[in-house]
Amino acid sequence: MLRITHLIKRYGNGEPVLKDLNLEVPDESLVSIIGASGAGKSTLLRCINRLVEPTSGSIELNGQELTTLKRDELRKSRRRIGMIFQGFNLVDRLTVMENVQCGRLGYIPYWRAALRRYPAEDIERAFHLMERVGIAKYANKRADELSGGERQRVGVVRALMQNPEILLADEPTASLDPVSSRQIMELLQNLADELKLPVLINIHNVAEAKEFTRRIVGMRFGRLIFDGKPSDLDDDA
Ligand code: ADP
Ligand code: ADP
Repeated sequence: MLRITHLIKRYGNGEPVLKDLNLEVPDESLVSIIGASGAGKSTLLRCINRLVEPTSGSIELNGQELTTLKRDELRKSRRRIGMIFQGFNLVDRLTVMENVQCGRLGYIPYWRAALRRYPAEDIERAFHLMERVGIAKYANKRADELSGGERQRVGVVRALMQNPEILLADEPTASLDPVSSRQIMELLQNLADELKLPVLINIHNVAEAKEFTRRIVGMRFGRLIFDGKPSDLDDDA
């Protein structure tokens, strides 16, 4: 469970870009955050993984406060957070298996990932997850030989290899064609259910959010202006 209370973020001396934001994401639930560019969606995800420092407020993951973690505790806490990116962030010249193992290893330099001999149990676990998302047959292909949808599945497995307590995805479908987007959204929804994880997705495509999500949160100018079922969302919102 993720619980955000009274979160405020301002960059420098500017206007806050997150204004007293409150949000709970229970396990087994996927929430899509929609909102125009500049609404604060990326900043919200970055506050959770502490790529940016929240100005004030609280972010609790399974009861532990994340905003007050010290530098040396941050690394450990980032391992609890699985990240999925718009541009996939794979290492092109590594194989799918090597990319996936990077998740567990905490993103070590690619040449070390390539040279590494992985414990059998990690290989087995990776195959299990790759089979789950349908990319096991590509394990020994280079990442840049795959299609966009397949590359995003590699990104998903890499995140899952961390045994995360939450998945955060920043525009995970924005680089994909409609068919692959649908498959990735369905996959993330199913993973939330199967793995009993909270999943938080930034998505600018409102139609996609409405089609694939049970709960949508709308942001505007750093505030939540909607939180509910897709069917309750006004079409002009
Ligand atoms: P979204 O993801 O919804 O497009 P962002 O979180 O990226 O929104 O941006 C919210 C606001 O914060 C925007 O006005 C943006 O210009 C500003 N912003 C984002 N990152 C920074 C930064 N590192 N420094 C200063 N302003 C930033
Ligand atoms: P994206 O939306 O593709 O994730 P960014 O998060 O980098 O892109 O940027 C989102 C918004 O935040 C943009 O409007 C950008 O100009 C602004 N922004 C990002 N970093 C900074 C920064 N260091 N200072 C001021 N504005 C920033």
